[in-house]
Amino acid sequence: MSETQVNLSSHLWDTSDLYKNAVLQLQEAADTMGLDPNISERLKVPKRALVVSVPIRLDDGSIRCFEGYRVQHNMTLGPGKGGVRFHPEVNLSEVAGLAMLMTFKCSLVGLPLGGAKGGIRVDPSKLSRQEAQALTRRYTSEINMIIGPDKDIPAPDVGTDAQHMAWMMDTYSQERGFAIPGVVTGKPIEIGGSLGRAESTGRGVVYTIQHAAKHLHSIGKPGPKMDSSTTVAIHGFGKVGAVAAQEIHQLNTKVVAVSDVGGGLYNKNGLNIPDVLKYMAKNRTLVGYPEADAITNDELLRTHVDVLIPAAIDGVITSKNVSTVNATIIAEGANGPITNEALKELESRGVFIIPDVLCNAGGVIVSYFEWVQGMQNFFWSEAEVNQKLAEVMANAFKKVVDVQSTYKSGMKTAALISGVDRLNRAMLLRGLFP
Ligand code: NAD
Repeated sequence: MSETQVNLSSHLWDTSDLYKNAVLQLQEAADTMGLDPNISERLKVPKRALVVSVPIRLDDGSIRCFEGYRVQHNMTLGPGKGGVRFHPEVNLSEVAGLAMLMTFKCSLVGLPLGGAKGGIRVDPSKLSRQEAQALTRRYTSEINMIIGPDKDIPAPDVGTDAQHMAWMMDTYSQERGFAIPGVVTGKPIEIGGSLGRAESTGRGVVYTIQHAAKHLHSIGKPGPKMDSSTTVAIHGFGKVGAVAAQEIHQLNTKVVAVSDVGGGLYNKNGLNIPDVLKYMAKNRTLVGYPEADAITNDELLRTHVDVLIPAAIDGVITSKNVSTVNATIIAEGANGPITNEALKELESRGVFIIPDVLCNAGGVIVSYFEWVQGMQNFFWSEAEVNQKLAEVMANAFKKVVDVQSTYKSGMKTAALISGVDRLNRAMLLRGLFP
C-alpha cells in the first residue's frame, strides 16, 4: 500500500480528539497485554459507517438538511449497540470514537453485543417538538438498512431521550408493517422499555464509586467513606448526572456542586438534590437556583472534593486544567471526559480513575436486559433489573481491578485490556473473512 493511501484512510477517522484518544488508549492496552498487532490493526478502525443527509421541513416552511451518522465499529460478539447523539459538534470521527468505546464496553461487561454509535449534527435546543420528530424519523429511515434487532440497536445519548426512541421504533416498524420494539432500547415502558433503564447509567456510576471506595480501603489507601463526610461534584446534570446526584443524595453523601451547560451551583453543606431537580424540571436550567452559590463549569471542575463525576461531554479535563483538579476519585460518567495527557498526570498523582467503559456501562447493561425482555415478551420487576445490574457491574469492577493488579497498569488500561481480551479471543476464533 502506498504512503498516500495510508494517510488518506487515517485522515477519514482521525479528525477528533475523542477518536485519537481512544486509539492511543487502545494502543497502550495492546502494548501492555502483548496483543497480536493484526488484531489491534483491525480494532483501530470501524467496520462500517453510513453518512446521511437528513432533510426536514422547519416550522417556518423552509427545508434544512442536517448531517447524520451511524458507525458500526466491531460486531464480532453480536449486533451493534450504541446511542444516538444530537449535538451541534457531532462529527463522523467523534461518532467513530464513541462506537469504538462501545465495542470495548460491551465486551468488558460480557454482553453478546458489538459497538456502534450514531449522531446528528444539530443543536436540539433550537428544534421545536415537531422538528425534532421529523428529524428523528427521517434519520431512522435513512439508516434503516443497517439497523434492526439483530443488526444494530440504537439507544439515547446526549440530546436524545425515550421519546426519540419511540419515534425511531415507530418509524422502523411503520416501514415494515408491524411493531418491532427490539430495534431500539431506552424506549418508554409503554412500548416495551425496561423498568430501571432510565436510571441505569447514573445508578451504575454510583455502584462503581462505592466499589472504588471499598477497594481503596482494602488496599490501605485513603478513600471516601461514602457517608455524610464525603463530598461529590457532578459536571453535567442530564440523564446520567442528575440520576447519579439523586442516588448519591439517597446514600446521605453530600453533592456539593452540580452544573449543566448554562453554569453550576455550589453549596458546601450539600445541595438538596430533590429540590434542585424540581427547580430544573420547572425552569429547564440550574441557573438561578436560590439555595446555592452560582459557579462556572470551570470552577466546578476545580472544586476540592472526594469524588468528581464528569457526566456531560468528552474532553473536559485536559492538560490545560488538570493541575487544578482536586479529587480522590474521578468517575467517568461521560464518555472520554479526560484526555490522555491529563489521565497520565492524574494517575501519577494517585487519583483513582474509574474509566468510562466501566463506569457508565450500566446503561448498555440494562439496554441489553431491555432487548432480552423484548425478545422474550417477558418483563422483569425493577428490583430484578437492579439486582442483575449490580451483579454485572460488581463482576466487571472486580475483573478490571484484577487485571490492573496483574499488569500493574492504570485503571484505564486495565479496563481496555479486560474488554480487548475477550474480543481478541472471539476474533481469533472467527478468523478473517474470506
Ligand atoms: P444529556 O443530554 O441527558 O445530558 C448532558 C448534560 O451535560 C446536560 O446537563 C447538559 O446541559 C450538560 N452539558 C452539555 N454540554 C456541556 C458543556 N459544554 N459543559 C457543561 N455541561 C454540559 O446526556 P447524557 O445521556 O446524560 O450523557 C452524558 C454523557 O454520558 C455523554 O458523554 C454520554 O455519551 C454518556 N453516556 C450516557 C449514557 C446514557 O444512558 N444516557 C450511557 C453511557 C454514557
